Amino acid sequence: MAERVIPLYDSRARVLAAPRPEATMSPAGHLQDALQRPLRDLRISVTDRCNFRCAYCMPKEVFGKDYPYLRHADLLTFEEITRLARLFLAHGVRKIRLTGGEPLLRKDIERLIEMLATLRTVDGTAPELTLTTNGSLLKRKARALRDAGLQRVTVSLDALDDAVFQRMNDVGFPVADVLDGIAAAQEAGLAPIKVNMVVKRGTNDDQIVPMARHFRGSGIVLRFIEYMDVGSSNGWCMDEVLPSAEVRQRLQQVFPLVPLKPLSPGETAERWGYAGADGRHDPALGEVGFISSVTQAFCRDCNRVRLSTEGRLYLCLFAERGYDLRALLRGGASDAEIAASLAAIWSQRADRYSEIRASLPAEMRRAARRIEMSYIGG
Ligand code: SAM
Ligand code: SF4
Ligand code: SF4
Repeated sequence: MAERVIPLYDSRARVLAAPRPEATMSPAGHLQDALQRPLRDLRISVTDRCNFRCAYCMPKEVFGKDYPYLRHADLLTFEEITRLARLFLAHGVRKIRLTGGEPLLRKDIERLIEMLATLRTVDGTAPELTLTTNGSLLKRKARALRDAGLQRVTVSLDALDDAVFQRMNDVGFPVADVLDGIAAAQEAGLAPIKVNMVVKRGTNDDQIVPMARHFRGSGIVLRFIEYMDVGSSNGWCMDEVLPSAEVRQRLQQVFPLVPLKPLSPGETAERWGYAGADGRHDPALGEVGFISSVTQAFCRDCNRVRLSTEGRLYLCLFAERGYDLRALLRGGASDAEIAASLAAIWSQRADRYSEIRASLPAEMRRAARRIEMSYIGG
């Protein structure tokens, strides 16, 4: 196995001033980037803190008790987040995902959801409003989240075996409590629920089949995520990536699968359905998804943008720098000025890291000072 090097580096320091075009604009409901990709999906990180220490995201060696988390005054307020979300929707965004860190740790998150739920897309419909969580607080909060207007949740769970899961979250959190959270979300109607499992070779790949067996036929979509080289602190190496094709082969040996069509362009997961006795997809058995950002780049249709906890806009999960929207908000910019800035930022976007990863020299990949997943969310 390759040597682990975990640089102690705070990537939040690098920031780009948001452009301030002379001409303001009223959004026309559609933007295209430099590679003709529309803007559809806004991911908002509401906290950089988490109660788990998953080694692939917030390893204890880096995120120890002295880690300099953002101060409360540095976080975007709910009013600031809602104002930006409204302007993004006017530019064509249709889906908003709250993430983190652990989003359910943000105090009064239900109030933010209530505020976002009142917004409308350019078609006059409610935006798709969802949230990604480690599930630890879901049992307590599922009902209130639903009442506030949240439509769905995605829960991260990397194993069914307690010892494996506790090792992975590195705080000894039990599987049963996450499963209780999922059950509470189902009961509250936060459906369809997705479960994300990051697969690390040699760590939890023996959990692939048990996880599939558990969620098959439950109405919950299990998605296998390739372990990514996101951030600069997880000591990523290719040896620990189990390609989705291999995950699928292992599953196919136990449960026959058939490919399904994507539901929408830019979808991150490749869908496969469980086959019934006739060899065709049996909807009662459900489906699984594969997110293969390492072995199968999906940048061509990438329509996602990420807003960090302190209001920086990242055009790619692997970006090294973000645009400082908080400075615009707190500097008194009007809606028309902010809308013009967002349009200028998106129109010059040409990011496609996953597509070019393989062609980058290893030293360059290692030297990259990328932003942490816990700071801009998944
Ligand atoms: N704390 C919440 C959670 O775990 O669901 C939300 C934030 S977490 C950063 C969002 C998603 O990113 C999770 O599903 C997590 O498993 C995934 N993730 C984090 N680091 C990753 C990595 N290095 N490779 C692949 N997925 C990763
Ligand atoms: Fe926390 Fe989610 Fe990162 Fe795990 S993946 S450390 S739960 S933010
Ligand atoms: Fe989108 Fe960047 Fe991921 Fe490509 S690497 S799919 S551009 S976030």
